[in-house]
Amino acid sequence: MQLYRHIFFDLDGTLWDFEGNSRETQKELYRVFGLKKYCNEFGNFNRIYQKYNDQVWSDYRKGRISKEKLKWYRFYLTLKDCGLSDKVFAKKLDAFYLNEAPKKKELIPRTIELLEYLSGNYELHILTNGFNEVQFIKLENSGLISFFHSIITSEDAGALKPDPLIFRYAMQKAGAEPEESLMVGDIFEVDIMGAKNAGMDQVFFNPEEDKAPESVTFEITRLEELIGIL
Ligand SMILES: [Mg+2]
Repeated sequence: MQLYRHIFFDLDGTLWDFEGNSRETQKELYRVFGLKKYCNEFGNFNRIYQKYNDQVWSDYRKGRISKEKLKWYRFYLTLKDCGLSDKVFAKKLDAFYLNEAPKKKELIPRTIELLEYLSGNYELHILTNGFNEVQFIKLENSGLISFFHSIITSEDAGALKPDPLIFRYAMQKAGAEPEESLMVGDIFEVDIMGAKNAGMDQVFFNPEEDKAPESVTFEITRLEELIGIL
């Protein structure tokens, strides 16, 4: 008997290659806005941005910073490290970034094969903390949208992963019970802990092979390993 009926996927870093697509967009941004003047190596700019982006997202998940501030503040802090304090300029970078990044189409290897394999036997859903105005564009442009029965964003749910509320909201929207649901995601504290606390089984997608802080139902380093599990 098939144990699971509903599979919930995180989007960024699990199916959509967030790191690669973000890096490409930052390269364009660096060139278009002449950022070499302030930060003489793209690699440095990329590293600094990544650090602040992670930091503001962590603050956003904890409710310490608004969505509007998150967007420009990560660029503001990056520029500041490069010696330029300019909120207006940071907002311009943010507008460019949010316009261009969702158009990128790079996926985590074997995403399409996996979704084709699963879609005949399971109901697939997206469960993401990303913003509505970018996540739908990503899903459309990268050809993923038609695989999914429902797309649940934290903005619709009014709660962010790992809050169990968003997982319960997602299951309700999908018409799913926790015992027939599986959550697949790449951030342990966000996707896995959240699903666990909402009573769902979990798949930790862990390509970097980081040490999992506690037990998890399944752990995979490549997406196609899910085919062997399901
Ligand atoms: Mg992710």
